[in-house]
Amino acid sequence: MADPLLTLDSHVDTLERALDAALDLRLDQRGRSCLDLPRMEAGGLWSACFTAFLPQGPLTEQARRAALARAEAMLAILDGLAESAAERCGRARNPEELHGLHAQGRRALVACLENTYPLGRDFKDLDRLASMGLAYATLCHQGANWVCGSNLEPQQGLTAFGRRLVHRLNELGIMVDVSHASERSAWEALEVSRAPVIASHSSCKALCDHRRNLSDDLLRAIAHSGGVVQICAYSPFLRLGAGENEASVSDFVDHLEHAIALVGVEHVGIGSDFDGGGGLSDCPDATHLPRITEELIRRGHGEAQLGLIWGKNFLRTWEETLGRASA
Ligand SMILES: [Zn+2]
Repeated sequence: MADPLLTLDSHVDTLERALDAALDLRLDQRGRSCLDLPRMEAGGLWSACFTAFLPQGPLTEQARRAALARAEAMLAILDGLAESAAERCGRARNPEELHGLHAQGRRALVACLENTYPLGRDFKDLDRLASMGLAYATLCHQGANWVCGSNLEPQQGLTAFGRRLVHRLNELGIMVDVSHASERSAWEALEVSRAPVIASHSSCKALCDHRRNLSDDLLRAIAHSGGVVQICAYSPFLRLGAGENEASVSDFVDHLEHAIALVGVEHVGIGSDFDGGGGLSDCPDATHLPRITEELIRRGHGEAQLGLIWGKNFLRTWEETLGRASA
């Protein structure tokens, strides 16, 4: 019988680590990563968005092709994990498949793309990657690309190609993710997108004035689009001056509660950023995720709210995005 609380972590960078260090995610990789299949099981984490993460490289065809090859290698690792541990997990290409896996007591592996840079300046490679069931695409990482300016270029918004790419993502039913984008890019993506916009791993600027965090106005606009803000457990986004793994579960839940007070519990979720720098002093890896649930309960959140925060909001947004797809 599956655990009734369907938990989803909307952002883990574990595939990059698995690729570079040849990790076998079927086994406990403690000390080498924050997350793997055994620790998802131990931490009650039913599903996770595994990103093919590409740092921003030079805007040349050669460099973007190398990035694309890495993205494909990371997605192949995810497929390999699903195939070789099929009794314990499977790939979820849509919310229905994810619910099916949960009902069978298997972990759901969701593929996502962090940085559209490897797609280049046309839709050929995007259309091919989309067939692998990408849930969302993060428009950029740290540095402007062919699509938009990042938080490092606050003056830069979406390019003309970026606007077309947002529409193509809408058509394909892939959620548009504005984490890492400049505030201007995020506003323009909200303006252009015909489907909800999400932030897969960002926290609240009102509590920690970091350029990667979201202003209250942007939080409201994302919620208004029907999207969801997945609060990020990267410590420097949670407490000003904190180093990696120095903020606590309590600091993290402060951000969740700020967002909930601002936009309602229907538009907030959790994106740990494990293996991308994410982690808390008292939640350094996936086995400790129940501590977040415990803290939410301690602060008076009931079962229904826990369900929304831990996955239902993200899945509703994904469902709605797929419902509006036309490709
Ligand atoms: Zn990131």
